[in-house]
Amino acid sequence: MKTVKAKKKLGQHFLNDLNIAKKITETLQFETYTKVLEIGPGMGVLTQYLPHKTGKVYLIEIDRESIAYLKNKYPLLEPNIIEGDFLKFNLKSVFGDSPFVIIGNFPYNISTQIVFKALEHRNQIPFFSGMFQKEVAERICEAPGTKKYGILSVLTQLFYTATYEFTVPPEVFSPPPKVDSGVLTLKRKENYSLDCNEKLLFKIVKMSFQQRRKTLRNSLKTLQLPINLKEDSIFDMRPEKLSGDDFIRLTQKIEDGKISS
Ligand code: SAH
Repeated sequence: MKTVKAKKKLGQHFLNDLNIAKKITETLQFETYTKVLEIGPGMGVLTQYLPHKTGKVYLIEIDRESIAYLKNKYPLLEPNIIEGDFLKFNLKSVFGDSPFVIIGNFPYNISTQIVFKALEHRNQIPFFSGMFQKEVAERICEAPGTKKYGILSVLTQLFYTATYEFTVPPEVFSPPPKVDSGVLTLKRKENYSLDCNEKLLFKIVKMSFQQRRKTLRNSLKTLQLPINLKEDSIFDMRPEKLSGDDFIRLTQKIEDGKISS
């Protein structure tokens, strides 16, 4: 079969190492889940290790040439092969309100957006496994107090336990990317509903990290907090020191402070 020509603008780096492909798919226990969505399957190096007969695997791929290749190579999957952009695709149109898990060796240029979209659909996504640029995978799994800890780490870890699984070198891809890659898994927490106003929390996290060297008092100025609330020592902190739970407490304080002011 004629192979797909790698297109740079689609972030195509095809994995050639079958052992690594298998190892990635083994991070996902398919038996436990009814539906699996693979994002960006390309020529299907991961797809071949996913269960084909039960109709539980769905593929979404933006590249028409890869789509033709996949339909030809995996005819059993044809009804579930979607040609489209994951970031724009309406997931409800396929999954309704049912749960599904995500797997993929992602296009690195949109990998953080893939995570943000998965977070938006967290009610339906109990598990997520994927290959990223190593830096990004590390950042997602990072603990508070470190340089790489940021918006993506806080927001992901509010809902998921993030585990950095293993590193993959550039040589096993064609063409090889300029960076190392890293595989991570996200397992949704048992209790993932937050005990605060979620919208406000997201806003506070984003505002805080936009100026990560500044204290919260400074970064959150435009929220016009009441003076007595601003005296609270939590506002002396910089965002990188705060865990997800700290951000929840901060959000609660801000909500309460506003109500009583
Ligand atoms: N999983 C394959 C390919 C990885 S390269 C492998 O491991 O070899 C990333 C893949 O994501 C490419 O096939 C690319 O066409 C696809 N892709 C890029 N942008 C996408 C998008 N917005 N939605 C879905 N797929 C996308």
